[in-house]
Amino acid sequence: MKKIYMDYAATTPTHPDVLAAMQPYFCEKFGNPSSVHSFGRETRAAVENARKQVADLIGAKLKEIVFTSSGTEANNFAIEGIAFANEKVGNHIITSKIEHHAILEPCEFLESKGFKITYLPVDKYGLVDPKEVERAITDKTILVSIMQANNEIGTIEPIEEISKVIKEAASKLGHKVYFHTDAVQTVGQIEVNVDKLGVDLLSMSAHKFYGPKGVGALYIRSGTRIVPFIRGGAQENHRRASTENVVGIVGMGVAAELASKELDSREKELIRLRDKLIKGLLAKIPQTSLNGHPTKRLPKNVNISVKYIEGESMLLNLDFEGIAASTGSACTSGSLEPSHVLMALGLSHEGAHGSIRFSLGRLNTEEDVEKVLEVFPKIVEKLRSMSPLYKGKEEA
Ligand SMILES: *Cc1c(COP(=O)(O)O)cnc(C)c1O
Repeated sequence: MKKIYMDYAATTPTHPDVLAAMQPYFCEKFGNPSSVHSFGRETRAAVENARKQVADLIGAKLKEIVFTSSGTEANNFAIEGIAFANEKVGNHIITSKIEHHAILEPCEFLESKGFKITYLPVDKYGLVDPKEVERAITDKTILVSIMQANNEIGTIEPIEEISKVIKEAASKLGHKVYFHTDAVQTVGQIEVNVDKLGVDLLSMSAHKFYGPKGVGALYIRSGTRIVPFIRGGAQENHRRASTENVVGIVGMGVAAELASKELDSREKELIRLRDKLIKGLLAKIPQTSLNGHPTKRLPKNVNISVKYIEGESMLLNLDFEGIAASTGSACTSGSLEPSHVLMALGLSHEGAHGSIRFSLGRLNTEEDVEKVLEVFPKIVEKLRSMSPLYKGKEEA
């Protein structure tokens, strides 16, 4: 049985060219980039080359890129680093209810340290309203963090518009209000340019765009006041201590370069497959609905609610057929709490529990989509035939 992977929002397989580029940095080219000898100079050059590749992908300057261990670390660094560097200016931070836990939990931690956090609501598609951001800004606001696209429902947020209202408000306040975006789901997948978006900080993660796991980066605009998140060395321009993950950084660089070359073709193909899958699922299965925005949506994301059955049972049955999907973010699946993202859209507990996410990627084919369209409706029919909720509905 050919297995079908449709969980690219959770992670992606490392691209073979990325692996090939990484390989020499395990045994042959192993120097510490901080060493002055030729072994060190060799890996220093590799790290700086990767920095250029990553900076070019998002339109940043070299010195604005700080490598981290993950998207999670980049988010923690951004939130806590800005908060503690600017607490004399103010103690208020604005974010949204649908952020990744790697934003929400650092914010909750800061609340315990005396910071005030506003969690903005979203509309039924998951969109943050720039006017709500404007209304939430006070003279104590130092940071706004809104994700560029949501990992569960795929909705792409109006980052440029939000940036404009922040800049206008900040100029009236007479102090800087930093704008951070979690772009882990967009970098390497759709066009991301820090100047066009108007952001001061932006998080990314290599394993979401065919790079290796355990390496990410934070873009920090020049002039930003931020304190380090990891202390103990002068690496990364004193912003992130510890010997660099040279192998991972080299991989992230090559993944970034590949992404910028293939961005348009990857995007076009995924949109085609995505729309075929969405259309097919909604047509073949009664009482289903699409979660997230119909058009302001990641090319890879399909998230639907299927009435009367549980996401977990759909997942297990799909897995049995060799098809890998997800019920939400990989971090919360396995917990019985309904997704905070789906709840923020206004879905009922039942609707949130009955949702499933297919996220597509570069190894998916037309045949994969057809297979899912053949197998999944049968699974739903079987599960519904066993569901007391559904039986009741049929008789009524
Ligand atoms: C995956 C993801 C993260 C976490 O990135 P890691 O590198 O896996 O720690 C953060 N934010 C979003 C939106 C994500 O999808």
